[in-house]
This record gives sequence, C-alpha cells and structure tokens, in this order.
Amino acid sequence: TTPSASAADPATGAAVKAADRAHVFHSWSAQGLIDPLPIAGAEGSYFWDYDGNRYLDFSSQLVNTNIGHQHPKVVAAIQEQAAKLCTIAPGFAVDVRSEAARLVAERTPGDLDKIFFTNGGAEAVENAVRMARLHTGRAKVLSAYRSYHGATATAINLTGDPRRWPSDTASAGVVHFWGPFLYRSAFHAETQEQECERALAHLEQTIAFEGPQSIAAIILETVPGTAGIMVPPAGYLAGVREICDRHGIVFILDEVMAGFGRTGHWFAADHFGVTPDLLTFAKGVNSGYVPLGGVAISAEIAATFDQRPYPGGLTYSGHPLACASAVATMNAMAEERIVENAADIGERVIGPALREIAERHPSVGEVRGLGVFWALDLVKNKETREPLVPYNAAGAANAPMAEFAAACKRGGLWPFVNMNRTHVVPACTITEAEAKEGLAALDEALAAADAHT
Ligand code: PMP
Repeated sequence: TTPSASAADPATGAAVKAADRAHVFHSWSAQGLIDPLPIAGAEGSYFWDYDGNRYLDFSSQLVNTNIGHQHPKVVAAIQEQAAKLCTIAPGFAVDVRSEAARLVAERTPGDLDKIFFTNGGAEAVENAVRMARLHTGRAKVLSAYRSYHGATATAINLTGDPRRWPSDTASAGVVHFWGPFLYRSAFHAETQEQECERALAHLEQTIAFEGPQSIAAIILETVPGTAGIMVPPAGYLAGVREICDRHGIVFILDEVMAGFGRTGHWFAADHFGVTPDLLTFAKGVNSGYVPLGGVAISAEIAATFDQRPYPGGLTYSGHPLACASAVATMNAMAEERIVENAADIGERVIGPALREIAERHPSVGEVRGLGVFWALDLVKNKETREPLVPYNAAGAANAPMAEFAAACKRGGLWPFVNMNRTHVVPACTITEAEAKEGLAALDEALAAADAHT
C-alpha cells in the first residue's frame, strides 16, 4: 500500500483530516468532494473539533446517541467487560448477552420475548424479513415509499427514499405503498381521520392486487424517521395490525431510529398500543457506543424455529462489549429517568418553541414530532407547501439547505438536514438550558432559509 500521512500522533485537525483523506472511504459520498470535520472529543450533548469550535449536537450523530456522548456508566461497563471477556462466539451462553436480551425483552411490547442480536439496523431488517419469509413460506414484502430501512441488499430495496435508486436492480419481492402523511397527502385528505382511512384502504387494495397469499410481511417504521418524522394518525397502526392478522401477513415495526426513548416512550409502538410480530432495533439500545442491533421476536415466530434451525447468523451476534454497553445504557436510562426526560423536554420545551418559531419564519411549513424527535418541513411558500428544495436536490439546487446548515454550524449548532427538512433530534438526556440554547441558534439560522422563500 502507498505510504501516507499518519494520524498516530495528531497535533492538529489538519493532520487528522489529511490521514482521513488518504485512506478512509466514506459512506454515501463522492470521495473527492467531501471535507470531513476532524473531531477531537465529545461529552453529553456536545462534540468539538481541534480549533476550539464546540457544537451542540441536535442530530445525535445519526440519531443514535440517545444517552449523550461518553456517558460514564456506559464507558465503565465497556471497560469492565473488556477486562473480563472481549469476545465469544454466539453459540455460547454468556451472562452479559442474556442480561441484554432480558432487558430488551422487558421493554418491548407484548410477547416479543426472544432477541436475535445483530451489529446494526440493516442486519436487523435483513433478518426480520428472512424470519417472516420462512415463517409464512411467502416471498413479497410491502414497505412505504417514505422510509429508510438500511443499506444492505434487502434493506436498501425496502427503503423508499432515493438512496434506493442506484441499488434497485435487485428489488424482487419488494412492493412500495404510500403511508399516511397529511401535510403532503397522497390521498388528497384534509383531516387526519380521512388520511388514516384512505391510507388503510390504499394498503388493502395494494394487498388485494398483489395477492395476499404471496405477501410475507409489511414493514413500517412506527414513526418514519429519516423520511420526515411523520407521526401516524391515531388508528393507522392498529388498522395495519388488523389487516396483517386477517391475511396472515407478518407485521414488522422498524424501531431502529424511533426506539429506546427517542419518542418519549421506550418504543414508539407504546404510543399506539400496537404490538408487531417482529420489532427491529439498534441505535439507542446502547447509543452506538459499540455496534449493536437486533430483532425482538414474538412467541409464535420463535416457535417456528424451535425444532427447525434458523438459517442465519453473524460472527459478532450478541458481542460481549456491545451487550455490556446495552445493559449499562438501558439501566442508566431507567435510573436517571432519561426516557421521561425526553418526553418532558419534548412536550414542554421543544414542541412549543418550534411551533412558535414556525409562526415567525416564512420558511417553516410544518412542525411535527414527539419526544426528542421533531421535524421542520421547510417550504418556499406556506400556502402552496412547495418544498424549499426539490425532491432529492443536489449541488446548486440544494443551496438553500446547505446555507441553512452552514448558518447553524456558525451558531454552534450541529443540525440534522435531509432534503427540505431539518430534524431536531438531540440526545434524550438534553437539559432544558441546552435545548433552549439550540433552539435559539436554530431560530437565528432559519433566516438563511427564509431568504429563499
Ligand atoms: N432502519 C431505520 C428506521 C433507520 O433509521 C436506520 C438507520 N438510519 C436503519 C434501519 C439502518 O440501520 P444501520 O445504519 O445501523 O444499518
């Protein structure tokens, strides 16, 4: 390999960046066009670079640091586990893995009591789909256009957003449909009740025309995240549950982003009183301190694989360091009432502040969300609801959002930006003072978006 700059003893951000540019191949990027920020450290709701710039993290990285950065109890648990047992194959019984599974099962709704561990969300989705196909003996899977389910082979095809397009050649067996989203209704609905009723009728019709006997599963994000934090109308998920039961279809809820406190409950499904057959999780289960995800499995589907082998596995399934961090994360979240904090700050501070911000800014078309899971839908015109940038805009066409993001960063705020939206998704541990600091910076940065209305 070609010798190049080393970051072994980095004195400066420039050295770290040079080393990165030499050998790191980045996700979702044209390698020659990116300029990654060198990071020197992080704690709680903040991270910082080498030049003394500190950012309030309103993105929770990729919406995963629910417990904040460097939580001391989680760091200590990883260190203790590393001293005790770093790795062991998934076939053995090991205390830390059993405890992580027990704590996940205790928190998931209904009878989702068996846990298959993976290294992240996409692998959880892959395995949930495989379980559904083997359980039903059917092949097709239905998923929503406004969705993200991961970047492995099946997960990217299930994904509805345009990141699917370059990989869409292998989408056999995947059928997309429209979920409910009143602000940009696919059904010309004017009320949540109409949206709910018409979205369910559309799903019924999709199933009828695909042939119910060919459909293994319907997968939905409980509250679609990356695609815009669209809280479904009351009754929608219960309606999907009923449709699945009637047709013998496995109902998969993807809670990779919405789970583990993000919405102000342990799982978003808790808001709707719905239990899926399979629930996928990752991110918040251990705030990403060590890669971990998984599938929580109903008693009925688990029974399918009681006397017949489940034909899937991963070398690092239930990795001890990942499980130790998950046990410490779930325990700390309970002890420190972190889920309750997410609900409280969301309802009392963030939600009201965002609604007030929306009234003052011509670029804010809609505010929606719950817990510490909020989206601002930015528009050119509040009347027509035309998005501030076109769907999947890149380069010059995306300039308004790029200018908005740059304004946030100048104000010490690290925003989550996707298409014409910014999401307010801080750590579940965020304090009232930090939330107010971030909201003030957001308020100021929105002037950059207003300039394009
Ligand atoms: N499902 C959902 C709902 C997600 O938000 C994500 C990641 N953003 C994934 C699956 C994929 O998870 P991962 O990146 O850990 O593979």
